[in-house]
Amino acid sequence: MDSAPKDMCGIVGYIGSKEATDVVVEGLRALEYRGYDSTGIACIEDSGNAKLLKQSGRVDNLISLIKESAPRSHVAIGHTRWATHGLPNSVNAHPHANNNQDIFVVHNGIIENYQELKEQLIKNGYIFKSQTDSEIIPNLIDYYVRQIGSFEKGLSAALNDLKGAFAIAVIAKNKPKTIYAAKVSSPLVIGVGKNKEYILASDPNAILEHTKEVVFLEDGDLAVIGPDKLKIYNFKKSNKKKPKLELLDYDQEKASLGQFPNFMLKEIFEAPKTIQSAILGRVRPDEKIIKLGGLEGVSTQLNYIDRIVIVACGTSYYAGLVGEYIIEDIAGIPVEVQLASEFKYRNEPFSRSTMLLAISQSGETADTIAALEKVKDFGCLRLGIINTTGSTIARLTDAGVYCHAGPERAVASTKAFIAQVTVLTLIALYLSKGNNKNYTKLLEELISLPQKAQDVIDLAPEIKKIALKYKNYRSFLFIGRGYGYPSALEGALKLKEISYIHAEGYAAGEMKHGPLALIDKDFPTFAIATNTNDLDKIMSNIEEIRARGGPVVAVATKGNKAIKRLVQDVIYIPKTLSHTQPLLLATIMQLFSYYIAEAKKVDIDHPRNLAKSVTVE
Ligand code: GLU
Repeated sequence: MDSAPKDMCGIVGYIGSKEATDVVVEGLRALEYRGYDSTGIACIEDSGNAKLLKQSGRVDNLISLIKESAPRSHVAIGHTRWATHGLPNSVNAHPHANNNQDIFVVHNGIIENYQELKEQLIKNGYIFKSQTDSEIIPNLIDYYVRQIGSFEKGLSAALNDLKGAFAIAVIAKNKPKTIYAAKVSSPLVIGVGKNKEYILASDPNAILEHTKEVVFLEDGDLAVIGPDKLKIYNFKKSNKKKPKLELLDYDQEKASLGQFPNFMLKEIFEAPKTIQSAILGRVRPDEKIIKLGGLEGVSTQLNYIDRIVIVACGTSYYAGLVGEYIIEDIAGIPVEVQLASEFKYRNEPFSRSTMLLAISQSGETADTIAALEKVKDFGCLRLGIINTTGSTIARLTDAGVYCHAGPERAVASTKAFIAQVTVLTLIALYLSKGNNKNYTKLLEELISLPQKAQDVIDLAPEIKKIALKYKNYRSFLFIGRGYGYPSALEGALKLKEISYIHAEGYAAGEMKHGPLALIDKDFPTFAIATNTNDLDKIMSNIEEIRARGGPVVAVATKGNKAIKRLVQDVIYIPKTLSHTQPLLLATIMQLFSYYIAEAKKVDIDHPRNLAKSVTVE
């Protein structure tokens, strides 16, 4: 997530005995949670005709278009676009076709050299309708197929010209029983169903419904899917590979809303369950040990680690910052947290005894993958904290600890943050080998946390009342000290993401170094004033804000009566160790942002301009 974070969204393809457009549309629906701005589908009908339907809007609108045109087909590809090049309108929506309208392509990612290729194609007489980078692909294929006289060879030649990150699916009128798929630095997986049916997707969520047997494509792969078989080539070396069949061990939990109005609220309410599943079987209070099966294979290497660099983006980055405090505090190992987008371009000294720890909900975050790849040849240990099994990061790292938070659908991350922080706490305890005075206390506190998280959830109606008072402010400051500091940063991000209110997180100790200048009656502060060694100091910071007329909402630990006199609104959390406060604070701030966003009637699960996993830099 860098200079201008861009994203790519969903690809689904189907070939088999069912109505292909139905399967593709259902797959696109399963990918909706990732966020997108337009959708489209192309199919080759049984009659041999090709149909292309696309529009700027939701999958539901696409379904109406499909109903009207009633296609009959067994080969189709579809797309949910998250615009990187050109406006989100129906012309720019995918699939894109060649000028002859007989080759159709859906593309995730960015073709970095598209301008150059476009100019060459224009010189050769090709005409472009869209502003996208993607439209060059069907035309380039067309160009090479004409030159070489073979579809597969022409396609390979075109792929070899593309620079950047891409996952593509291609169908062609002259190849009515085949889908072609290829990828570089962008995920693509083929589900192998019963009766020789194949479902292609950029995210296994679109496949689960049909089969758990899958083939993950690797960079440089060109898959020729159907009729009745699957062939994979490396388009760079043009050698054939044997498809490697794997079983998805996905948590089948189908995301359903139940009585919740949207996924974000549902996922916030899952905090107690999330902590519970992250510690389940891992925290053993009787034996006073932490068991992390995923790290056992690298336990010897872990003994030689003298520095940890955490790389992550967005909310995962803030989880990493909490991790920095906790690992240094409990395990005594120096930690540095870096934005993956910065890490990959930095030229910093990196010794082999440094471990890289990547955090990503989806396991597909492009910058985090790039960070892992950067140190690959270096021989240092690479761990992952990921929520999605089978994801690229899960497969790229030497070892790791899964979050077990279940699928997260809302674009703004909530329960995944809670799971990541819980896992980081477990890793800190594990690395400490029990050599810390707070080891047992912290280990036991983790057991009582799901209940405390539930107590916080029960405050939702109260938090809603407070949130509504603040919904019309244009800017917000979030401040904290110690463990409250990374929590404040994440709180500010959440408010920005879903309510579109400008918010900044600050270390409270920095107030006098600048931000205090902003404070007046129209600039409220969300202050984290829970019980820690720094409580007196943060109380003074709040005094200073009040003295300048700034409204303050504070989160304090139960029993802190003094704060009531000082601020307009207080939300009390149960007593817990300072190390575990971020886990309770996160839910409070998520709910606060949520209720403001709800009052502002925004599309909470799909905030404008954002997408779930940022898989292109
Ligand atoms: N770069 C392409 C476009 O802007 C694809 C974006 C995506 O991944 O959805 O159309």
